[in-house]
Amino acid sequence: MLDQREIASSPTPAVFADLGVRPVINCSGIYTDLGGSRLSPTVWAAMTEANDWFVDMVELLERSGARIADLLAVEAARVTPGASAAIALGVAACVARGDRARMERLPETAGMPNEVLLQRGHRYKYARLPLLAGARVVEIGEPDGTEPLEITRAIGPQTAAVFLPAHLDGHNGTVPLVEVAAIAHERGVPVFVDAAYMNYPVAVMGSFTAAGADLVCFSAKYFGGPNGGGFIAGRRDLIEAVAAVDFTRHESGPYRRFGRAFKMDRQLVVATVLALEEWLAMDHAARWAGYRRQVETLREGLAGLPGATLTPRCFTMDERLVPDPVNCLVVAFSPESGTSAHEVSERLAAGNPSIRCVVEGDALVIVVETVREGDEPLIAARVREAVG
Ligand SMILES: *Cc1c(COP(=O)(O)O)cnc(C)c1O
Repeated sequence: MLDQREIASSPTPAVFADLGVRPVINCSGIYTDLGGSRLSPTVWAAMTEANDWFVDMVELLERSGARIADLLAVEAARVTPGASAAIALGVAACVARGDRARMERLPETAGMPNEVLLQRGHRYKYARLPLLAGARVVEIGEPDGTEPLEITRAIGPQTAAVFLPAHLDGHNGTVPLVEVAAIAHERGVPVFVDAAYMNYPVAVMGSFTAAGADLVCFSAKYFGGPNGGGFIAGRRDLIEAVAAVDFTRHESGPYRRFGRAFKMDRQLVVATVLALEEWLAMDHAARWAGYRRQVETLREGLAGLPGATLTPRCFTMDERLVPDPVNCLVVAFSPESGTSAHEVSERLAAGNPSIRCVVEGDALVIVVETVREGDEPLIAARVREAVG
């Protein structure tokens, strides 16, 4: 197992140096482009242990899914290689519904129920993923609102599912999940919710199925799991339909699998489940208190920075700055400071290690959620240097 302290003290870890890649101190938060997440030592150790043995992947996927279902008190669940893959696999399941002839043709879907409904006010960057399963995304309503009757009218024998991003539930005049579910269920159509980052407070994770979602997916990158992990949960028959199209049994089963492109290592599967267990059992008050301490250390290190005001804030999952709970330091530069947040950010990024911050208007936002405790003095020194 890698010793995390050792990495911290070595300026360029050998694995990256060998490839000519600069290491990054991530002051932006959880972004796939920066590597996503950092695994806990116990999760990392579990992956190492899993590496020593082969396992029957069919059994591993079944047992790990059952464990997740127990943890969230939902009917069933299945690990997937991320939330994006969960959307593709979940939509494939809604199109094929366990019908072998259909499954064998995926992602060719002519003659199958292959429309996924999306309220226009729910447009977001992952809404194209149902297309991977051969489905068509049919937008309903207007960008600033949908009427329940428009959903009712759009549903027909060609409808595979209604798709809804949880973080936009009720936004932009959209019909809320509870009402969408009532309309869809009356017509036998499942509702599929992308709740990729809706994991805190932890009780929210089980709330979507309770509100009527038939399928819901989460990304492991947001709960301390692997960047490439995630899972889908919900109705047992639909999770069985997911299992029937995913990568398992492509070689040993009676038909070729649509989901082969979404295969996983056993290490990823165990890490996803264990990280979820740790996330649900975690002392989150202590986690937030830790961020507050790190931000305080940064603030002390940057005290008196010319032309700058320092404010502890919260950089939210939907990329807004709000007062609480603290997870970042906002360094705002006055017009007289002779520099700009953009310039400082570029200089920080250009160094080695590269330091990646968020820029919001005239402010540099240093998010500590992905910063190792102990890296704050280095970050503060580099910000001072960058301000010049
Ligand atoms: C990150 C994210 C996804 C994709 O999850 P992956 O696990 O990275 O595939 C989907 N939806 C939302 C809202 C996300 O933030």
